[in-house]
Amino acid sequence: MNPEYRSITGTFDILPDTSTTDGASDAPSSTWRYIEDVIHKVMQRFNAEEIRTPILEPTPLIARGVGAYTDIVSKEMFAFERGDTHYVLRPEITAPVVRAYLQHHLDQRGGVQKLYYIGPCFRAERPQKGRYRQFHQFGAEIMGTDDPRADVECIALMMAIYEEIGLSGLRLRLNSVGNPASRARFVEALQNYLEPYRHELSETSLQRLEKNPLRILDTKAQHEQEILQDAPVLLDFLDEESEKHYAEVKTLLQDLEIAFVEDPTLVRGLDYYTHTAFELESADIGAQSALGGGGRYDLLAQELGSKQAVPSIGFASGIERLLLAMEAQGIEAPAAPAVDVFLAALGDEAQRWVFRWAQQLRAEGLSVGLDLRGRSLKSQMKEANRQRAEYTLIIGGNELEAGGAQVKHMESGEQEEVAFDNLVAYLQRRIEA
Ligand code: AMP
Repeated sequence: MNPEYRSITGTFDILPDTSTTDGASDAPSSTWRYIEDVIHKVMQRFNAEEIRTPILEPTPLIARGVGAYTDIVSKEMFAFERGDTHYVLRPEITAPVVRAYLQHHLDQRGGVQKLYYIGPCFRAERPQKGRYRQFHQFGAEIMGTDDPRADVECIALMMAIYEEIGLSGLRLRLNSVGNPASRARFVEALQNYLEPYRHELSETSLQRLEKNPLRILDTKAQHEQEILQDAPVLLDFLDEESEKHYAEVKTLLQDLEIAFVEDPTLVRGLDYYTHTAFELESADIGAQSALGGGGRYDLLAQELGSKQAVPSIGFASGIERLLLAMEAQGIEAPAAPAVDVFLAALGDEAQRWVFRWAQQLRAEGLSVGLDLRGRSLKSQMKEANRQRAEYTLIIGGNELEAGGAQVKHMESGEQEEVAFDNLVAYLQRRIEA
């Protein structure tokens, strides 16, 4: 195939089956559908409501909402201009949800808004296992409360989805980045501590030290990690309010028997993040071990121009990583539903009959396959098998004359004649059973 016409590296097709995986998801569309169904079901249990926002968003929203000094905004955006407008393919969905909340005054619906989403996101990263340029996130945002119970409900919601899928051995890391006052004191201490090591820091870390100091704690460079070993620890700088919030979150998690490990290096770099930060990992999926993560962002709405604070917490997870974990743990989604009945026809008249009956049986709610190429009976039976039809109706001139069809149960091979008048009832009875 002309390479210019192939799908873009780092994106993939989701196909009905997985006999080819070059540029296609390892999982068939039925598995994707199953995962989405589980997400909808669990979200419903937690009384979260679905929100869908556009894939295209204004670049300034994402730059502001995700943070200008993050990798996502500085290096990974698919952004372009048309006329005076700057567009970006959304790299995540929290900022769009907050935008929608503010734009449509969702606070006026009353109470706490618990919103969830599933959809594609785009980042110009170097594609590798578990890291793609178009990937799919699901997540939830609980907006309009700073109660620690919302933090724990958000985490419980995320965990419930993985549990429903059947994954085990996951590790939930937890930290608090405190309120802005606590963090400001910590950042100052961190900058003072790192001052003598300036000449040993990478260009990136030096930049972070200026613009986004918390992100230094994320460094992957070993010599920087060693320098950081004796650095001040954020948890030691939490003030009373921050301590209280964090302690409450931990107690509530214990109440729900949700296991976690505290990790003081887990940070979210931006100023509008407050208090709780968490990440869920699986040791089974290789280098990109994060299944999902989230945190509290009490100051984001104001960052986006809201006069009022909208204290909120959310999580975002990747479907591709969930699929990797399922594969690693041998968890299979239910197979795609098969066709209830395949109509095999012999001869022109039978073909016309079958074409009409397919319509009728479908109107009765049955799923019906039929031949659209005028093939031999043998090929039609093969096609019925490929479609995993539960029953096949065989209709030729004799059957039309006799006013009944040969009905074959494909698994047992048993066959009997059923009068046309009884056909719908016959099939419905057996297929429901
Ligand atoms: P983030 O918004 O970076 O915190 O990402 C949240 C989740 O989305 C991660 O834990 C991953 O599961 C998933 N994710 C992020 N970036 C990618 C990517 N490029 N490819 C696949 N999944 C991703």
